Amino acid sequence: MYQSQAGQEQMWVTCPECLGSGRLRVIMGDDSEVSIPCVCCERGYEGSPGRIQSYRFMACITEHTVTGVDAQTREGGLRVRYSFGCYSTEEENVFATRDEALLRANTLVSEHEAEEIKRLKYKEKQHRTWAWNVSYWRGVIRRAKEEITRAEARLAVAPKNPKEVDKADKINSETGKLSCI
Ligand SMILES: [Zn+2]
Repeated sequence: MYQSQAGQEQMWVTCPECLGSGRLRVIMGDDSEVSIPCVCCERGYEGSPGRIQSYRFMACITEHTVTGVDAQTREGGLRVRYSFGCYSTEEENVFATRDEALLRANTLVSEHEAEEIKRLKYKEKQHRTWAWNVSYWRGVIRRAKEEITRAEARLAVAPKNPKEVDKADKINSETGKLSCI
């Protein structure tokens, strides 16, 4: 019997978003530009290398001697598995002739390729994540700057009457203004 499989080989492709640079420039509403690591080819702690890991698929046919057949009824249908020694596979990937096996293997390759293209396309279109990244870090910077302004103001003005400062603080927090004391 012949078994059909889609063999795979790892390969690297240039990142379609940053074209290998690993960085993306984002233009904000006020025309300022920021540079962020490319989200498309990001690989955790490794950063953004500017390339994406992908796979090349190929039809793979292997000849085996069937050592066992296992049939089970599941969800109304009959599921058959063939055993080749200590290894087994589904009926749909086992054939009597090499030609039939090749046809099936080519279908498996097409299916895997379509899945891989979908995966890469999904990686490409993560603009929402980029936008989130940029606005998040700008928010962190803005809040830190406000914090610094407040801290500097506190150092510059030595309060003569701590009670009055407390009162002013309270008014400020009630009106929600970020004015200094
Ligand atoms: Zn990239």
